[in-house]
Amino acid sequence: MALIVMKFGGSSVGDAERMKRVARRIVERKQEGNQIVVVVSAMGDTTDDLIDLSKQICEGTPSAREMDMLLTTGEQVSVALLSMAVQSLGEPAVSYTGWQAGMYTEAVHGKARITDIQPDRVLKSAQAGSVVIVAGFQGMTTEGEITTLGRGGSDTTAVALAAAIKADLCEIYTDVDGVYSTDPRVVKVARKLKEISYDEMLELANLGAAVLHPRAVEYAKNYNVALVVRSSFTQNEGTQVKEEAVMEQGIVVRGIAYDKNVARISILGVPEKPGQLAKVFTALAKEQIDVDIIVQSGVIAGAADFSFTTALTDLDKALAVIESIRSDIGFREATHETDLVKVSIVGAGMVSTPGVAAKMFETISELGVTISLVSTSEIKMSCVIKQAHLAEVVRALHTAFGLDTTEQAYVGGPQERR
Ligand code: ADP
Ligand code: ASP
Ligand code: MG
Repeated sequence: MALIVMKFGGSSVGDAERMKRVARRIVERKQEGNQIVVVVSAMGDTTDDLIDLSKQICEGTPSAREMDMLLTTGEQVSVALLSMAVQSLGEPAVSYTGWQAGMYTEAVHGKARITDIQPDRVLKSAQAGSVVIVAGFQGMTTEGEITTLGRGGSDTTAVALAAAIKADLCEIYTDVDGVYSTDPRVVKVARKLKEISYDEMLELANLGAAVLHPRAVEYAKNYNVALVVRSSFTQNEGTQVKEEAVMEQGIVVRGIAYDKNVARISILGVPEKPGQLAKVFTALAKEQIDVDIIVQSGVIAGAADFSFTTALTDLDKALAVIESIRSDIGFREATHETDLVKVSIVGAGMVSTPGVAAKMFETISELGVTISLVSTSEIKMSCVIKQAHLAEVVRALHTAFGLDTTEQAYVGGPQERR
């Protein structure tokens, strides 16, 4: 008998029919003789709809605490309904919120990290023969405040819980057949990967591949969780995410990711003095704003310009922070740019293969597209470009790095997702 964590994303439980199909899938797995713990997301676009609703209620930025209170209701609806659906099929089931399931997090609203899991209740119910259905994406601080783990965080709930209960397997069920060489909704000839290493998957996830939440991959790597990504719509074999993955001969790049949640900020005419950059980034860090690519241009007449990227969702906050330190730094002007996308190539083989960067630049420039910022590390390389060029750039890179396949990818969910 195996202990299996099965996680179902929003589109897999988008309506009552889909919810019932997922319930049948769970019951099948249970009746194979396994103990089952399920983690489920909010139905369909519920989370986006709740965010929209908050914007209609609130003029400025809503309170982060109340946003968490609001958004966690989405998953609470799902667990109750899924539990009913499983019970209707004659199997015992019990639903738990994140806090009932013992998911403790740090006291940060909107993107809390899990600090501790006390899974006794989950384990007891599973051992007693119930299908245990846990709300993804949510937790509680030791003070009893409700928190969320960041968009897409149900994956993290699933993998972290799998590690805590020492599950034999964690299956992430979604609306595509597995992890592809790039988003199969953008590139029709994307290839499904049989396997991918934790490190490569972590890079792809961090660089925007929505199929897995980055922290879920971090957990899987740290606790060596056997992780499979597969479709809730088909029985096809999925993708195994594991310590080491075999790379096909002649292929250097495993995958291409893109991230639209990016904005560029430039601070111009910064008087040259030691510690100026540190002041800016310390002030941003204090407000929990992550900075990604940083570029400083040469010093002219004792003043320098520098640019960096942040998440688009943090842009207003970041601009306010910069304004607040204007007199301290004494810069001339701060500008920003949106409508950008960061396109990245990832592959363990890139370390030992010369010419990868040149090929990426060449491919993009042949399309007449300007690259505004670049960053590289051992197994990845990213270019920031205008969002309007996203699809053509990803397609061209996919072809240039020999990733195209003739098999049509299975895409089960709605074609247009927000
Ligand atoms: P869920 O609701 O199941 O959590 P997500 O929307 O979060 O699903 O993630 C699945 C989506 O991720 C797919 O529909 C696909 O468009 C997108 N995606 C982006 N990059 C990839 C990739 N490399 N492989 C597979 N899917 C990808
Ligand atoms: N419902 C949350 C979101 O839409 C969490 C998740 O789906 O993983 O981001
Ligand atoms: Mg997801």
